[in-house]
Amino acid sequence: MKIKDLYLQNSLSKSKEKFEPISEGYIGMYVCGPTVYSDVHLGNVRTFTSFDVIYRTLLFLGYKVRYVRNITDVGHLLDDGEDRISRGARLDQLEPMEVVQKYTNSFHKMMDIFNTKKPSIEPRATQHILEQIEMVQQILDNGYGYVVDGSVYFDTLKFQEDKKIYGDLSGRKIEDLFSETRDDLKKQDQKRHPSDFAIWMKADPEHLMKWNSPWSEGFPGWHLECSVMSTKYLGETFDIHGGGNDLKFPHHENEIAQNVGACNCKPCNYWLHTNMLLMNGKKMSKSDGNTISPDELFTGDSPHVSKGYSPMAVKFFMLQSHYSSTLDLTDDALAASEKGYKRLMESLKTLEGLNHKSSGNDLDNEVNSSLDEFIAHMCDDFNTPRAIASLFEVVTKINSFKEGHLDLSQISAETFNRLKEDYPKYIDDVLGLKNENDGGNNDALNGIMELVLDLRQEARANKDWGTADKIRDGLAKSKIVVKDGKDGSNWQFS
Ligand code: AMP
Ligand code: ZN
Repeated sequence: MKIKDLYLQNSLSKSKEKFEPISEGYIGMYVCGPTVYSDVHLGNVRTFTSFDVIYRTLLFLGYKVRYVRNITDVGHLLDDGEDRISRGARLDQLEPMEVVQKYTNSFHKMMDIFNTKKPSIEPRATQHILEQIEMVQQILDNGYGYVVDGSVYFDTLKFQEDKKIYGDLSGRKIEDLFSETRDDLKKQDQKRHPSDFAIWMKADPEHLMKWNSPWSEGFPGWHLECSVMSTKYLGETFDIHGGGNDLKFPHHENEIAQNVGACNCKPCNYWLHTNMLLMNGKKMSKSDGNTISPDELFTGDSPHVSKGYSPMAVKFFMLQSHYSSTLDLTDDALAASEKGYKRLMESLKTLEGLNHKSSGNDLDNEVNSSLDEFIAHMCDDFNTPRAIASLFEVVTKINSFKEGHLDLSQISAETFNRLKEDYPKYIDDVLGLKNENDGGNNDALNGIMELVLDLRQEARANKDWGTADKIRDGLAKSKIVVKDGKDGSNWQFS
């Protein structure tokens, strides 16, 4: 099958470009992953969900994709000079690696709840210290770094003097730059220029995570891990690099400088940046405390929402805006999305129940063009809001077929089969929206069923057959079948 043309908004060229992979049929994609010192908030989820849909679309189009998303488990410094992971460890009284494991696990759990696919490789910064030391050495060997008291800095002025471009991605000029980095404020005076940044930092004695290096016992600068791990797993220049647009500067700008400084090659051909999730018009951010956790949103236990919203309703809400637009989280918008999501899921059920016998093909064009438009919109820089609008044209048709406003026999067998096959795939495979009422996928329902089956088990143990049967028959009325086996009872929808 010939892969369809795909257009991407490249943040580096600031224009929409036709995508040309480095190797035909293959894509290497790197996305900056979470810093695991606390639970992810909904803003992070928006970014990772956006890249999941991008990954799914690339797979759907027929590409073989190597998707690398890292875990940032080396601390990195806050404005007050304290290491994020160490602070987490101190607050929770844990080993730094315990903090890392705890929040990596909770991140994975959240990604599962939002039905995102696992990346092909999920490398951790701490597993790549040797490679990071090697890249620091390469940068020094090429003359783009300098050492001050055990710390190594990237020399942005020398880089620019050599006609290497710094600042293109974020549109910043070296001359205007002041230190907007996550580096240790105490050591700013070691830099030759405010736009220089640390690639290796000497650790203070009380620092918890540190490694030996030729320059000092210390730790790598934050930007270095992504330069190193993307190069290791995807090559010196790969296809797509992504992240939230708050990472454009300094993180991605410095990544480019490091890659060019180390191997004289740009890290990737296309930069994709997601826009921020806002709450009450302000960026959702851990450090500002302006966050809502996914759990608070699911339970409704937050002053920002009037009730709980299910993960898929929240995901649907996110997909209704383009990944490069800001998105403001409001109760009204969530309520509207919940309705839209349910309508979409109901249409799947309705479609399943349609019985078709063709006697014409008058409606083929209408159905096929809505289906085609879905893919066309996804190939146009992953335009999920427009693609979803095309799906709703299909929803309207499916409902009209059911209600008899449109004559189902007026579509050919071929188009009907395509509808049955492709439409659910677009929702499930491409958008990653699953049906939460589809037996066993709903956490709340699972919890309730566990409790109900426990109570029934107790009744059986007490030979209270009346209660046991009452529970089973009552569940049957809700189309839930209980099966008793050697290892206890289980359930499923009938
Ligand atoms: P962090 O763990 O802070 O490095 O963030 C992980 C990812 O989430 C990065 O790609 C950030 O750009 C992204 N991110 C952080 N805050 C938001 C937000 N409010 N909306 C969307 N993405 C965000
Ligand atoms: Zn990164």
